[in-house]
Amino acid sequence: MADHAVVVIGTGPVGLSIAFELATRGIDVAVVEAVTVGSGAARRNAGWVVPIMAAPVPAPGVVGKAARWMFDPTSPLRVAPDLDPRHIAFMIGMLRASSPRRFEHGLAAVGALAEGTLDLFDAYAGRGVDFEMHRDGVLLAFTSHGEFEAHVKEYLDAARVAGLSTPELLDAAGVREAEPGLADSVVAGILCPDQMHLNPDSYVDGLRSAITELGVPVLEGTSVTGLSVASDGITLSSSHGSMSALQVVVAAGVGSARIVASAGQRLPLRFGKGYGYDLATPPVPLRRAVYLAEAKVAVTPLNDGMRLAGTMEFGGDPDRVDLRRAAGIITSSRPYFEGGIDTDRAPWAGLRPMTPDGLPVIGRMRRAPGVIVATGHAMLGVTLAPRTGQLVADLVEDRQPPELAPFAVERFEWGHAARPPANEVAN
Ligand SMILES: Cc1cc2nc3c(=O)[nH]c(=O)nc-3n(C[C@H](O)[C@H](O)[C@H](O)COP(=O)(O)OP(=O)(O)OC[C@H]3O[C@@H](n4cnc5c(N)ncnc54)[C@H](O)[C@@H]3O)c2cc1C
Repeated sequence: MADHAVVVIGTGPVGLSIAFELATRGIDVAVVEAVTVGSGAARRNAGWVVPIMAAPVPAPGVVGKAARWMFDPTSPLRVAPDLDPRHIAFMIGMLRASSPRRFEHGLAAVGALAEGTLDLFDAYAGRGVDFEMHRDGVLLAFTSHGEFEAHVKEYLDAARVAGLSTPELLDAAGVREAEPGLADSVVAGILCPDQMHLNPDSYVDGLRSAITELGVPVLEGTSVTGLSVASDGITLSSSHGSMSALQVVVAAGVGSARIVASAGQRLPLRFGKGYGYDLATPPVPLRRAVYLAEAKVAVTPLNDGMRLAGTMEFGGDPDRVDLRRAAGIITSSRPYFEGGIDTDRAPWAGLRPMTPDGLPVIGRMRRAPGVIVATGHAMLGVTLAPRTGQLVADLVEDRQPPELAPFAVERFEWGHAARPPANEVAN
């Protein structure tokens, strides 16, 4: 007999939300974590719940922009010169996914996945998950009219596909009224009143307490090294011996590729490194989360200070903290605040699980149906976690939610890559 009906690997927002959903449905589930709960990007993010930002990273023009910024040590986006063939293949895959058609397809798929996610966070709070949540909206702040014009359509489209209220377009005076602490250099804004943010630490800790209360065992310090699939279940090998389950959910962030490879599935998952700073004293009080659009920095006001997060770095050494690039977050943020901004705090780094087409991977492995994969949430792992939890729980209960079609595990294989997405066939 298997040790558990389901074992979830990984305790980021995705793995914890899946475990919470399964346990709530009365399913016997255990969780394994290589280090301690929330050791990946779970605590190292901006904490935004932003279906309005459903646009996939591979957007038209983005790879060219990254190439232009390649030798700028402080740019918000960087592709490291890395000769690893997997890195090169990934970047080519991203380039191919950056066509306007694929971008629109991705935006629609992620927008649909994000639909209803804001309410799910309220539902979590109602179901006893205790975390710091701020339902004050998000303001996108622009210092250039050109950048504002270039992005308005993207956000209006995202609002439409994710079923959100239409964002409010603000001129300089409107921005000042909404956020008096922002500098006069901010000339335009997009106010998204129904978006929200949370404190990432409190979310991870709240979910951990909730699943513990529901009786879910959480095995920390247990790194899964491989899956062995048989007709009557799956054996997980780990740094602490083995265990068995009828079904396994791989939600191990950037560590997922190695685990699914042991079950015969190639997943072109790479990290997208980001940096952040935690300021004990905010430079100005903010009423809501603010995105510094040209700097590409997310500013998150929290009960105990303010967090700044940004940058996206592909390739290179995952463990290296590039102090110059991290410092670019502070220098590029200065023009947005009256009186500027500074810190003597050290930056932190987090690794986003990225796929070449910018979409998550959520589904059963066809060649090992007992294995479900839930990763690749890129810049939206917090935002999409509760919805992913619901859909994965549906898979565990043997339902196949139709909205998961764009996120199939096998879509990067040759046969799949050649096949256009269904909505492109009709065009
Ligand atoms: C700077 C930055 C800002 C961000 N801001 C936002 C934001 O505002 N909103 C948003 O929605 N998203 C944001 N993100 C993205 C978000 O943090 C990620 O998408 C999310 O953390 C991914 O969740 P996950 O559960 O898939 O993986 P992770 O959070 O990375 O968790 C994976 C877990 O699996 C464990 N693990 C790995 N390998 C193994 C193994 N072999 N055995 C056992 N356990 C293993 C790891 O230790 C880790 O704890 C941001 C990310 C960064 C870096």
